[in-house]
Amino acid sequence: MHSIDQIISYSYIPITENKVGTWRFSEPFFDEKTSPCSFHCPINQEISHIMILLENKKYKEAFLNMFEKNPLLYTTGSVCPAFCKQNCNRKEIDSSIDINNIESYLGKMFIDYDISETLSNEKRDDRICIIGFGPAGISLSYQLAKKGFIVDVFEKMEKGGGMPIYGIPDIRLDKKIAEKEIKRIEAIKKINVYYSTEIKKDDIEKLKKEYKRVIVATGLQDPVKIEGLEDVYYGIDVLIKYHTKKFSFPSNGHYLVLGGGNTAMDVALYLLNNSNKVDIIARRDVLRAFEKEVEEVKKLGANIIFKAELKEWDKKRGGALININGKEDKIKADGIFICFGQKDKNFTDLKNIEKIGDIGGFEANLSTAIASGLKKAYEIIGIEKENKNIKIATIEMINKDIIEKKDKTEIINNETLIEEASRCIKCGICTECKVCETFCPDLAIDVNKRPEFDYDYCKGCGICYMECPRGVISLREVNR
Ligand code: SF4
Ligand code: SF4
Ligand code: SF4
Repeated sequence: MHSIDQIISYSYIPITENKVGTWRFSEPFFDEKTSPCSFHCPINQEISHIMILLENKKYKEAFLNMFEKNPLLYTTGSVCPAFCKQNCNRKEIDSSIDINNIESYLGKMFIDYDISETLSNEKRDDRICIIGFGPAGISLSYQLAKKGFIVDVFEKMEKGGGMPIYGIPDIRLDKKIAEKEIKRIEAIKKINVYYSTEIKKDDIEKLKKEYKRVIVATGLQDPVKIEGLEDVYYGIDVLIKYHTKKFSFPSNGHYLVLGGGNTAMDVALYLLNNSNKVDIIARRDVLRAFEKEVEEVKKLGANIIFKAELKEWDKKRGGALININGKEDKIKADGIFICFGQKDKNFTDLKNIEKIGDIGGFEANLSTAIASGLKKAYEIIGIEKENKNIKIATIEMINKDIIEKKDKTEIINNETLIEEASRCIKCGICTECKVCETFCPDLAIDVNKRPEFDYDYCKGCGICYMECPRGVISLREVNR
């Protein structure tokens, strides 16, 4: 039989005297990172911070955090393809956080909120001219007015909002709420919007003399046409006319929709909802449209014909000749809607003019348009925001074992909103959860000091780095 002295080694001096820090070849350090959701959001919304605010029931603060960069959050939350959600780390564990629905919920919750507190009292003499009050123009106007600039906006339509109002189907977006978001920006004193006022390219030189900057934000609203083809509808034209009550979609017929982008899906959606049979004729073997829009029309019964091209169209006889994957086929139809993309006839060729949004060559989607307005505003105001050394908290950095599995919660009220926000891992952000402190065998971490490491006692085992559920801690080599 052994005595306890023989089987347990113990120290005759206090543990504090045993500075195991001298053993280490690598050391942990506090290294907060960008979450992939924020990185992939064109507006770079601070999603993990917003989720922390929501978890703590700070709804107003969460709304204001989003609103600071995005004055149309109800609209983006409703129709953005949610690049954030597509790249959410949580999808590797159970399901992505419902970020876009959280965004639209917050936008709706604060739709009547008085935003005057977000405006500064700064006064500037510079007048800025913006042509177009769509998402890019609205975003730029808000950011500039907030900093004291006087902004004159010329919009050719009777209302603002651009494509979300005139192009996106009513069933995808509640236009009444979306219009309220636009009107809230329009009501800012420093923004003067002149509706039903079309600016032509010949007006630009005169405007340049009157304003410090002239920025074109008209979007692309003219259809790409097929020469020689008659008796057809053009997708973007009919969508704009429909939303200005100048066109009605036909019903109970058979229609061909040419194109694989979002306009094609939107036209198909209206046709399908009017009990039409719809064939979508796509040139390639994949569609360019957002996945959720494609799924929606498929569910409603759209027939998608890939690798197909229109050869002939005779409206009187109601027939189309289509080349499908090298073979020609006749399809009887009541009409054709061409959705081959959009262009701009007015400003595209004009050089020496600043352009934002779709016409500025940015990717054609709502959140990218808002981001382009924001970026232009930073440039005009003189704010440096470019950070080239972004570190992303990838799923490999997350300790998945510690995260309890829980599927997505449908957001219907504040409770479910909090529930869904609580599912967020808060990737890359220290929530002071103390997991690292608990697991450190040498008591070398003090979380209360925004993880401070006591390098006298940290022997560089890397357990904290392995255990952190948010990928906050990084390791670096120690050169001895
Ligand atoms: S704008 Fe789009 S990508 Fe950004 S947070 Fe909203 S839904 Fe996500
Ligand atoms: S879990 Fe949260 S912080 Fe992480 S990527 Fe998803 S939404 Fe962003
Ligand atoms: S384990 Fe928790 S307390 Fe420690 S760094 Fe990570 S998030 Fe912060």
